[in-house]
Amino acid sequence: MAKNHFLCDTKNNPLFEINCPIRARRNTNWFISVDPSCYKRLFDEQGLYFEFSRFRFDNFFSVKQCRHCRRFSHTTKCCPGSKDVLCTNCGMDHLTSDCKQINCINSLESNQRFKTNFDLSHGPFDRIKCECFVKKKANLVRLTNYGTTPVPPD
Ligand SMILES: [Zn+2]
Ligand SMILES: [Zn+2]
Ligand SMILES: [Zn+2]
Repeated sequence: MAKNHFLCDTKNNPLFEINCPIRARRNTNWFISVDPSCYKRLFDEQGLYFEFSRFRFDNFFSVKQCRHCRRFSHTTKCCPGSKDVLCTNCGMDHLTSDCKQINCINSLESNQRFKTNFDLSHGPFDRIKCECFVKKKANLVRLTNYGTTPVPPD
């Protein structure tokens, strides 16, 4: 707060909350939730400082995805199909050795259920090519309060 004045209100109360850190291979990523009133400023001020260093930061989109069945909206711990033996390539219900080509199970199911026309030729964890993920992310952004001037994050 001493280095980033916009992160506290006029009474010096913090407008942010520090969530749990996630350790990556070389560094640690910290998650902070900020009040919508200072979200835009965080990006406008072009920096987030701590002691003498400037932190890199970006938006984080917490779209849950299961590592086991590859579906969205739940984690491996709560996977309804945790007992199923699934293909380790694509997560579908066939032997890994029978896997001919990687198809995205989420895009496939969306096409079947919602008549979307998503491309299937990508892995289920591909966050760039998967239109199903892009749609999930857009929904999350739509439901998030970014303050008075929503900045549609990339
Ligand atoms: Zn699952
Ligand atoms: Zn497969
Ligand atoms: Zn997909």
